[in-house]
Amino acid sequence: MSCKTDPSLHREKKPSWIKVRLPNNPVFWSTKALISDLELHTVCEEAQCPNRWECWGQGTATFMIAGDRCTRACGFCAVKTAKPFALEADEPTRVAEATSRMNLNHVVITAVARDDVEDGGAAHFAETIEAVRRECPGIVIEVLVPDFNDKDWALQKVMDARPHIFNHNLETVERLTPLVRSRAKYGRSLSVLKKAKQMAAGRAATKSGIMLGLGETEEEILRTMDDLREHEVTVLTMGQYLRPTPKHLPVVAYIEPEQFERYKGIAEEKGFRHVASGPLVRSSYHAADFRPELDIL
Ligand code: SF4
Repeated sequence: MSCKTDPSLHREKKPSWIKVRLPNNPVFWSTKALISDLELHTVCEEAQCPNRWECWGQGTATFMIAGDRCTRACGFCAVKTAKPFALEADEPTRVAEATSRMNLNHVVITAVARDDVEDGGAAHFAETIEAVRRECPGIVIEVLVPDFNDKDWALQKVMDARPHIFNHNLETVERLTPLVRSRAKYGRSLSVLKKAKQMAAGRAATKSGIMLGLGETEEEILRTMDDLREHEVTVLTMGQYLRPTPKHLPVVAYIEPEQFERYKGIAEEKGFRHVASGPLVRSSYHAADFRPELDIL
């Protein structure tokens, strides 16, 4: 009898520094149960984040609102692409309840891209921010948003809800953007970051992140840092791209931890206030390590 290998089980050999820790504490399982109990989605699970054992084991997670079906099909992302379901009106209060039950002092809320909805899900974001603030006054609220197709009025809805940290990822350097995020535009993302900062009138920090290992050059990475600084972004994350399945973009290079450290130093010299850089760094990895200015809390 022949035995074929399931292509979905294909795993590329990874370097020794890409280590995933398996769950070894009860907090992981209680976090998982709570999320399941409240019927919430997390980017931790949907994007197959390698840190979920660690983060959930520490009782934190990143909520993914507006469903688990994305209207875009980015070449790096494991979230499924399909026609989304209708937005759930009670999801904001369920996220707020989870935030409260998990006793978080910093919550990260992201969403799938909802190009099927006129405002791209902006009002749903705003309702979620407001529900969390009502339930957990004093909490730091970070949002990781799509580009809302550059609709300023949609972005304004999110900023009117006063998130403390506004995160929108460039994901990669300008040259590779059409390959990595085919429906997005590098310049548009930069402009969204700058407009969000202006709309917040100084009352929100702006943050962005890129994945390394997709074929970018050092010069392009440094240019991207400069572009972000020119658009007043002060928080930066850099992590290794990992291919979720063989259908996704291949890894071109595994960047060594020392190189991530070097990039962190360069970014700090360029004026970023907080930089997280390392092979397993993701947008929301140890997000609470960055505290925005007290006067915007
Ligand atoms: S790094 Fe972010 S997405 Fe990954 S497990 Fe941690 S909280 Fe979830």
